[in-house]
Amino acid sequence: MFAFRDSREGDVSRLRVDVAFTDSSLDLQGLRDDFPQVLARLEDELGVPLARASQVHGDEVLVVDAPIPLGHAPTADALVTRTRGLGLMVRVADCVPLVLADVEAGVVGAVHSGRPGMVLDIATRAVEVMREQGASEIAAWLGPHVCGACYEVPEQMRAEVSAVVPEAYAETSWGTPSVDVGAGVRAQLERAGVEVVEVGGCTREDQGLHSYRRDGSAAGRFAGLVWVS
Ligand SMILES: [Zn+2]
Repeated sequence: MFAFRDSREGDVSRLRVDVAFTDSSLDLQGLRDDFPQVLARLEDELGVPLARASQVHGDEVLVVDAPIPLGHAPTADALVTRTRGLGLMVRVADCVPLVLADVEAGVVGAVHSGRPGMVLDIATRAVEVMREQGASEIAAWLGPHVCGACYEVPEQMRAEVSAVVPEAYAETSWGTPSVDVGAGVRAQLERAGVEVVEVGGCTREDQGLHSYRRDGSAAGRFAGLVWVS
């Protein structure tokens, strides 16, 4: 069920933060008929209820303090909480799933940053909202996403994106223009003073992960998850 799991305990606080990324054995595409059952199965496995958003490639960061009922997901691309026992979920298939935590302060965040989110710098915006909520030393787990060697884009798009985020300038393994969203988001986090842990490989190349570039409209979604207990 999981491609990656990690947990950290605070030195000063008695808090623990859990981080997980699911694999392709779960399909969390919200439009599927069985989404409620899949979500319930995941919540059972984790032992926490989940808050999630309806993601739109924007830069809205929402502070939440309760699980979100089915059918009521608010529009946002990042969630932040300081509520213990509430899991945050971000769903992706190639975009960067990012989870953030300050283990001492007990503040966590989950961010959906694809190419548009990176251009809008939603990662830094989420870090700012976490700091408003009391976070100071923030660590980030940058989850599996399509790599720069696979994410082909038109030449003009690469020029526009790299004018805003120079670190995202890349070339595919077959020599055409591409964008490296992971490198761009990593640079944004480092500029914001956040420690970055890179998790997993390229979604397009790894069959164990969902990929829109590989599977098109049939692609499933996997999740980045974080919670404090
Ligand atoms: Zn790749």
